[in-house]
Amino acid sequence: MSGRLKAIQTIGSRPVGTSKPTPSTSSEVPSEGFGSYVFNRTVMQRLFPKEIYNNVVAAMEGREKIRTEYADIIASTMKDWAVSLGATHFTHWFQPLTGLSAAKHDAFIDWHVHDSVIEKFGGKQLLQGEPDASSLPSGGLRSTFEARGYTAWDPTSPIFIWKTGGGATLCIPSIFFSWTGEALDHKLPLLRAENKLGESTLRLLKLSGIKAKRVYTTLGFEQEYFLVDRSLRDLRPDLMLTERTLFGAAPAKGQQLQDHYIGAVRDRVIHYMHDFESTALHLGIPVKTRHNEVAPAQHEVAPVFERASSAVDHNILLMELMRVVAGKHKLTCLLHEKPFAALNGSGKHANWSLMSDTGLNLFDPTAHPENNWPFLTLVTAVLHAAHRHPELLRSSIGSASNDLRLGGHEAPPAIISVYLGTVLERLLSDITKNRNVTNTPKQPSYDLGSLVIPDLPRDHTDRNRTSPFAFTGNRFEFRAVGSSSNPSFPITILNSIVAESLNEILDEIEKSVQVVPKKPDQAFFGKYFLPVLRKYLKVSEPIRFSGDNYSAAWVKEAQKRKIPNTPLSIDSYKALITKKSKRALEGVLNAEELECRYQVLCEAYAHTHDIETDLMAELFLTHVLPAATRAQKDLAQSITSCTEALNGTASLVEQKRLLKALCESIEKGCKLAKRLEQQRAKANTTSQSEARGRALRDNAASTGNSLREVVDAIEDTINDKYWPLPKYREILFNL
Ligand code: ADP
Ligand code: MG
Repeated sequence: MSGRLKAIQTIGSRPVGTSKPTPSTSSEVPSEGFGSYVFNRTVMQRLFPKEIYNNVVAAMEGREKIRTEYADIIASTMKDWAVSLGATHFTHWFQPLTGLSAAKHDAFIDWHVHDSVIEKFGGKQLLQGEPDASSLPSGGLRSTFEARGYTAWDPTSPIFIWKTGGGATLCIPSIFFSWTGEALDHKLPLLRAENKLGESTLRLLKLSGIKAKRVYTTLGFEQEYFLVDRSLRDLRPDLMLTERTLFGAAPAKGQQLQDHYIGAVRDRVIHYMHDFESTALHLGIPVKTRHNEVAPAQHEVAPVFERASSAVDHNILLMELMRVVAGKHKLTCLLHEKPFAALNGSGKHANWSLMSDTGLNLFDPTAHPENNWPFLTLVTAVLHAAHRHPELLRSSIGSASNDLRLGGHEAPPAIISVYLGTVLERLLSDITKNRNVTNTPKQPSYDLGSLVIPDLPRDHTDRNRTSPFAFTGNRFEFRAVGSSSNPSFPITILNSIVAESLNEILDEIEKSVQVVPKKPDQAFFGKYFLPVLRKYLKVSEPIRFSGDNYSAAWVKEAQKRKIPNTPLSIDSYKALITKKSKRALEGVLNAEELECRYQVLCEAYAHTHDIETDLMAELFLTHVLPAATRAQKDLAQSITSCTEALNGTASLVEQKRLLKALCESIEKGCKLAKRLEQQRAKANTTSQSEARGRALRDNAASTGNSLREVVDAIEDTINDKYWPLPKYREILFNL
C-alpha cells in the first residue's frame, strides 16, 4: 500500500481510545495562569526594592534607561525567579531579518575550573549580549571588516520563560545591532518609529490643548493559519520545505458552500486551540478570539491589542507556539500566506491605533467628542502619508509568499488605498468642499422593526473587507499584512510616514498660530487647523476608495488616479532606497539600514523562488513521473490485451484518446521540468538579487505554472492508488 493510503487509514482507523484527539494538556481557568511565566509588574513589585522597581517600570514605559548600578540586582532577582520556575538557561531573544525569532541559550552557571562552577548571569549579561549570529541576513551590513553583532535588553517588552522540550529558558526580549550601531533586526526600527510618531502626536495634542506625556502605538493582530494532519504533511515534501503545495488538483468541494467560516470547530482542532492558548496565556499573550476561517482547515486567533512592542513580540511568540504545540497533536500549523491554490489565503490583519498615556484612543472619534480636531488631523496625516508613499507601504508587506495571496481569493489587491466608511467620508468631503462642518459624527441607530430587540447603536463605519487599509471605527486595519510575516516592518513604515506627514501639517499650522489658548475653541481650530487640513485632504483624495477593491474596474480606476499597482513584491522593494523614502524614514532607518532591508528582501524573494523551482522539478521527476508512467503502462497494456482478445472488434477510441492524452501530458511535463531546471540555472548566474529574484519568479510564473497545470491534470486522471502526494481533499477535510 502506498504511504499516502497508509497515512489516511491511520488517521481514520485509530482504535477507539487513541482515535480520540490528543487531549489538551491544561484544564486551568485561563485567568488563573495568566502571565505566570512573565516577569511582570506584580512579580517585580514583590521582588524588587522600590527604587529599582520604579526604574524598571520607567524603562518599560520608555521614560528612563535602566540604571547600570541596578543591573546586577535586577539580574540576580530575575535569575532566582526563573530558576524557581525550572529555568536552567537564559537567552537574549531577538528578531533578526529572517522574520522569525532567534536565541542562543546560555546556562546560568559556567565551569570555572574543572571542579567548581560560577554564576554566569549578572547585570552585564542581562543588558548586553554578543551572540555573533554572523550567519543571519544582514544585507551587506556585516560583510565588512568588522562583523560583530550585539543584542541589548529591550525593557519595553516583558521578559518571559519559554518552556519546551522538558526544559525552560529565561528569554530577554532584545534588539540586535551591528558594531557600527546599525539595526540588524526588526525591533529597533519599530521602537524608533513608535517614538517618532509618539513625539509628533504629542506636538499635535499640545497644540490642541490636550494633556498627555506620551503616545504609544497600539496593535492587535488577527492571525490566520491552516491546520493539517502531520502524517499527511510528512508525505508532501513541498509542505515540509515551503509550507505550500506546489502541485495539487482542486478538490470538487473547496469553500464554495462557505460552510466552514465561523462554523463549529472540530474536536481535534479545539483541543489544539485550547492547548496553545493556555500556554499563550501563561506567557501573558492575551488571546481572545478564535474561529474557523473561510477555507476548509483554515482558522484564526486574535489576541487583544497591546502596545506595539509587546504585540509584536507576542505575535512572533504565538506563531512559534502554534507550530510547536501542533506537533504534540500530530498536526502541522501552516502560517504561509497561500498553502493551497484556489482557496483563501491567510493574512495577519494589523489593527493599528495610537493611545496616550492618559488612556485616550486617538483614532476613536467618540473618545473626545468635544474636541475631535486631533482625530481629524491624524486621519488627514494617515491619508496624506498613504497617498505619498503607497510604494513604500506595498514594499513593507512584500514577500514571495504574500504575492500569491494579494489580489487572489478574498485578499486585498496589490494596490494600496484607504477605506474610511460613509460617515467619515462625508465629513471629509464636507471639509474639502467647504461645507458646514460639525466634526463629531453623530451616532446613528438601527430600527430593526422588532419589539423585543433593543435599539442598537450603529458603528460609525460600515465594513469594507476588500480594502487593504480600512478605518474600522476606532482604529485602522492594515489588512494586506501577510500571515507569516514579522509585522514590525509594515508598522515601522506606517508610523514613520504618518509622522512625516503629521509633522508637515503641524509645521504649517504652527506657522500661523501665535499663542495656543489654554482651552482652544472651535473658532481657534476653524481658523488655524481647518484650512491646512483642507489643503492636505485635497491632495490625498485619490487614495480614498470605498468601492470593491477586488473588481477589475478598480484596477482601471486606480490607474486613472495614478495610484501604483505593483502585483510583484520584487518590483516594490526599490521604493525602500529612494530619496523620498529616506527622507520619510529619517530617525528610524538610515540609508545603510534601508539598503540592508532592500538587499535582504530581494535575497529572500529570490531564495524562495529558487527553492520552490528546484523542488518542483524534483517532485515531478521523483513523485509524479513514476506514478504517471505506471498508469500509462497499465492503460497501454490493457488496450493491447483487449485488442488481442477481441481480435480488434471492440471500439477503444476513448481509451486510446485517454492514453494519448496521458502520454502527451507526461512528455510535456518532462519538457517543462527540464526547462525549469535550465531557467533556474541561468537565473542563478545573475548576481544582483533583485534581477535574480525577478528572473526566478518569472520562470515560476510561466514554466512553473504550466508544469503545475500538467501535473494537476495528471492527478485528476490516473489511478488514485498510484498517486503519492496526499490530495487536497484528504489534507483539508481529514481533521
Ligand atoms: P474583526 O471583526 O476585524 O475580525 P477581531 O475581533 O477578530 O475583529 O479583531 C480585532 C482586533 O483589533 C483585536 O485584536 C482587537 O484587540 C484589536 N483592536 C481593538 N481596538 C484596538 C485599538 N484601539 N488599537 C489596536 N487594535 C485594536
Ligand atoms: Mg477577524
